[in-house]
Amino acid sequence: MAAKLIKGTDIREQILEEITAEVKQIKEKHGVVPGLVTILVGENPASISYVTLKIQTAHRVGFKEIQDSQSVDITEEQLLALIDKYNKDDSINGILVQLPLPKHIDEKKVLNAIDPDKDVDGFHPVNVGRLMIGGKEVKFPPCTPAGIQEMIVRAGVETSGAEVVVVGRSNIVGKPIANMMLQKGKGANSTVTIVHTGTKDLASHCQRADILIVAAGVPGLVKPEWIKPGACVIDVGVNRVGEKISEKTGKPIAILRGDVDFDAAKEIAGSITPVPGGVGPMTITMLMLNTLKSLKFKLGIA
Ligand code: NAD
Repeated sequence: MAAKLIKGTDIREQILEEITAEVKQIKEKHGVVPGLVTILVGENPASISYVTLKIQTAHRVGFKEIQDSQSVDITEEQLLALIDKYNKDDSINGILVQLPLPKHIDEKKVLNAIDPDKDVDGFHPVNVGRLMIGGKEVKFPPCTPAGIQEMIVRAGVETSGAEVVVVGRSNIVGKPIANMMLQKGKGANSTVTIVHTGTKDLASHCQRADILIVAAGVPGLVKPEWIKPGACVIDVGVNRVGEKISEKTGKPIAILRGDVDFDAAKEIAGSITPVPGGVGPMTITMLMLNTLKSLKFKLGIA
């Protein structure tokens, strides 16, 4: 294997240790810890497992963590009142509403009701605007793109002046990571191209990329011949392509594949993220970092 493996699992451990140490210092000096609340409506099993992981991670790094579980029958008005309560709660620095919400609730209205200064997911229009402006305006970069940028920086890949090609234009990955990579500053200052379903010749764009970020949700979309030798390849795709029996538990688990033909690509790329164990573990990690940042902004020490 030629490429260096960029492991999200290892980077996650480093960052969570850094956060834990900083939380301890802030607690000693200021007598407070970051507070994170996750609001879960109903009993969707996938949502329960995401929320549980977020809460466990928050607990691990020393945050005050609240899992606020609400019945599937909660009204929109009641949910908005709950958000208002946490918006006003001084001990809470981050508010998450786990999606999807039941059909009788307007998701957009609920997400937009979160105080932008507690919107640690970074999806509120105010935070999308701040990200677009860049520099000191940015408070909470969305977690998956922030994780991607952090991985590139920690892998020691030069971004300044680099050709970055982003495959995919979603609001949660493609558009924000493209926007982040073109800003001035550390881990950015790149020349960015976004390609998508309307692009005529995907291969020729990808072949120019010093850093290729793929978030299309199409298993094996990127072929080895699309990769520039020595490029850094970040595979965001997580695609279920089948099931297998877990050796650990004996229960069926999903077989996951990325958007890049990993086995062939690793012989050409300079560095590459695996799936699973690449970008995936970074999202919750960056959520913790955003929550810590939220408290630091409030204390004036960010
Ligand atoms: P999305 O479906 O919202 O967007 C996919 C984008 O890819 C679209 O903009 C589309 O134009 C583009 N695209 C799709 N097929 C294409 C093709 N054949 N050629 C060119 N462009 C194409 O998806 P998303 O939410 O951005 O997620 C993308 C992938 O990343 C998914 O596999 C998702 O599971 C994964 N993901 C992982 C994480 C994580 O690891 N933490 C987080 C978010 C998304």
